[in-house]
Amino acid sequence: MARQFSTVGVVGLGTMGAGIAEVFARTGLTVIAVDVDDEGLERGRGHLEHSTARAVERGKLDAAGKAELLGRISTGTSLGDLAGCDLVVEAVPERMDLKASVLAELDRICPPDTVFASNTSSLSITEIGVHTGRPGKVVGLHFFNPTQVLKLVEVIRSVVTEPDVVADVVALVERLGKTPVVIGDRAGFIANALLFGYLNHAVRMYESRYATREDLDAAMRYGCGYPMGPLALLDLIGLDTAYEILDTMYHQSRNRLHAPAPVLKQMITAGLLGRKSGRGFYTYDAPDSSTVVPDVHTPAAASDAVPTREVQRVGVIGTGTMATGIVEVFAKRGYDVVLRARTVEKAESALAKVRKSLERAVSKGRLSEVDAAAVLGRVSPAVEFEELADCDLLVEAVAEDLAVKKSVFQALDEVCKPGAILATTTSSLPVIECAAATGRPGDVVGLHFFNPAQVMKLVEVVDTISTSADVVATARRVCLDLGKQPVHCGDRAGFIVNALLFPYLNDAVKMLEAHYADADDIDNAMKVGCGLPMGPFELLDVVGLDVSLAIERTLYLEFREAGFAPAPLLEHLVTAGRLGRKTGKGFRDYS
Ligand code: NAD
Repeated sequence: MARQFSTVGVVGLGTMGAGIAEVFARTGLTVIAVDVDDEGLERGRGHLEHSTARAVERGKLDAAGKAELLGRISTGTSLGDLAGCDLVVEAVPERMDLKASVLAELDRICPPDTVFASNTSSLSITEIGVHTGRPGKVVGLHFFNPTQVLKLVEVIRSVVTEPDVVADVVALVERLGKTPVVIGDRAGFIANALLFGYLNHAVRMYESRYATREDLDAAMRYGCGYPMGPLALLDLIGLDTAYEILDTMYHQSRNRLHAPAPVLKQMITAGLLGRKSGRGFYTYDAPDSSTVVPDVHTPAAASDAVPTREVQRVGVIGTGTMATGIVEVFAKRGYDVVLRARTVEKAESALAKVRKSLERAVSKGRLSEVDAAAVLGRVSPAVEFEELADCDLLVEAVAEDLAVKKSVFQALDEVCKPGAILATTTSSLPVIECAAATGRPGDVVGLHFFNPAQVMKLVEVVDTISTSADVVATARRVCLDLGKQPVHCGDRAGFIVNALLFPYLNDAVKMLEAHYADADDIDNAMKVGCGLPMGPFELLDVVGLDVSLAIERTLYLEFREAGFAPAPLLEHLVTAGRLGRKTGKGFRDYS
């Protein structure tokens, strides 16, 4: 007969334990929460009080409901208090010795049928289980932070966990209104195994000063629609917890990309644990607060120290999706735009694409007919490079082929007026190659728009070792003027977004290839557990598997990181012509 869990114990009332206790109590279960000392309990009660008070403020709970909920949670400092529990969930710090000793003691205290669950993010459930006399009754129950909000719960079974224990725990998770996913015992499970490689990579970028913390976070929010940037998320998770998770993953995978970035250890040693200590990558107005306050690393407001160049007339070279989108963005903002194509026919059809897009905006009521006509009136088609001679800013958006781009830059160098800024929209080629094709490398910069350019706010402003400071400052100013969010980074393969995104997507393919979980579970884990707008396989099918493979190859060739090598499964899908939505088949079939 299925177990009916009615009294549950929670050990450790920290970030996670307090949230877990609240979720159980909200469902009507009796909760006994234990922390190591009175100070821990006090903090835990503070978390509970704060979180339930917020629920009342937001109208999700009334005062009586709050009192009732808190009334279901009793607290103490002795594991002996948990003797009558049907289930005990431990959420003590991420250290095997600690978890093992807590479970060994609980094993002596609780009746043999009590189920033990660990909220570990990465440690082996099998190993935790063997420290008890009942490894068959030990499971992983991995909640996500903030527990009250995120619906995913990973239920981890070891090779010896009894099937009925897994089934009963799954039923309980569903009773809590959460979404369970049952998986085997592998460091990081699904979500963290995919998330932490990405987070660690972002820390390495920060550590090497490739981009500022603000720009790294803005890049992933505006470029990928993530709810938080990686460094802000690490502050929420807690840097000590993150370090332990990475360390465990590294010891299991021996993948260098999981070796915790050294700065993490330095920050932990200095007491910078993230939000919980009031300071991590960012500074907060108090411990446990989410309000960021300025500190010495906060970028100063744009100063006049670097002069910028005047930009009124913009030339766009190319006729594809990006070129026409960019033409529309500039013309809408009031810039005069010259659209340069290789033939009159191509110029006409590119102009027609811009017209069609504007008509769509008119039909949706987002633009008046008069304004649409004015926008179109600002765009003049051209075929000769000479017609770009008086442009202040040139944006090259031709095919992603270095030889083609270099010939465009040579041609621009011959005709453009002195002081014109020459920009490339390349997403993976070195900007310096374009710069070196000209006699004016100081004027060359990367302006990586995202697709669709009319919608996506992010623009990566890429400077090479030769780019002049005023060119970067001008590029930033123009992006802001267009209503875009510029982020500044150096000239390396993938810039910020693709370099962070594609290794993660590749890791997801490797996880699928290893039969750890299927595509639906992986997609769900990343959406429901991490709040990402799309799962990795949905995204790969949208981007195109051939395009994704090309980016992964570029990253692999530039960084020579073994972990960046494209997954063979991706190569095979591309070879088989399964390129994603555009061919109707990719990781999934589309009708
Ligand atoms: P935390 O540091 O916020 O809380 C740990 C709590 O355990 C503290 O209140 C501490 O006083 C208490 N504690 C320490 N030793 C104890 C003992 N011997 N007996 C009883 N209580 C003890 O840590 P956290 O972030 O809540 O992490 C707890 C667990 O949850 C870890 O295994 C972690 O990997 C996992 N987890 C964390 C997150 C996250 O985002 N932070 C998400 C999912 C899972």
